[in-house]
Amino acid sequence: MNRLSPTVLLSLSLILVAVPASADMFKPGVKDQIALGKRAAEDIRKNEKVLKDDDPRVVEVRAIGKKLLSFIPAAELKKKPFEYSFDVVDSKDLNAFALPGGPVFVYSGLVDKLTTQDEIAGIIAHELTHVRNEHWASAYADNQKRQLGLTILLTVLNANSTAFNIAGVSDELLFTLPYSRKHESEADRIGYDLMVKAGYNPQGMIDVFEILEKQSGGGKSSEWYSDHPALANRIEVIRQRISKEGKAFPAERPLHRGTI
Ligand SMILES: [Zn+2]
Repeated sequence: MNRLSPTVLLSLSLILVAVPASADMFKPGVKDQIALGKRAAEDIRKNEKVLKDDDPRVVEVRAIGKKLLSFIPAAELKKKPFEYSFDVVDSKDLNAFALPGGPVFVYSGLVDKLTTQDEIAGIIAHELTHVRNEHWASAYADNQKRQLGLTILLTVLNANSTAFNIAGVSDELLFTLPYSRKHESEADRIGYDLMVKAGYNPQGMIDVFEILEKQSGGGKSSEWYSDHPALANRIEVIRQRISKEGKAFPAERPLHRGTI
């Protein structure tokens, strides 16, 4: 006899109603995101060649990162005190990524192809949005929900415990969980807002995407060539926005290349 008792059936139906409302129970909180990002960033700094603090590219990336951060509203920083940091990985790959909780890594292969501060701002502003809007944590929660059956869900709910355990998250998962198209578009859109607020020309974001597009298929698994909206579409969206807004932006400024 495997028929479910009325009590269980009632619990099931309650849970089915309750799950959408409590969907966040699978989402790592701000503190967990910070701890995860910190752990993975330390691993990267240990295992990859990360450029030294006095490398001109690091100095410039950090100066631009710091400037962008200063335009994030104080109320947001208070609510989500992510520990932002900026590093440059010594690698020919054209890549950049952000870890949950704040660490941003840009590859020297990409930095070396860029010529303006606005391009660096475009890439960093995009990555910062992934952190600010907790895209990895949402992707993780969605992934967990897909993987977990209702039985486990029931157990978890009945045990009244949190479903998230930082020790159970591998660094691998931090790097391989793809962002959705929605998240990528959001990172472009809000990244655009931030860079413009900070006085950069959004053409910089188009420039970077064009450089990345030319290399499509060439780099190894990078956040730029996974299941993204095609870069060409994203460039078009930004182009249309610039023309629709009809604002005059400051001219793109060349990189200092060691003079700061
Ligand atoms: Zn992205």
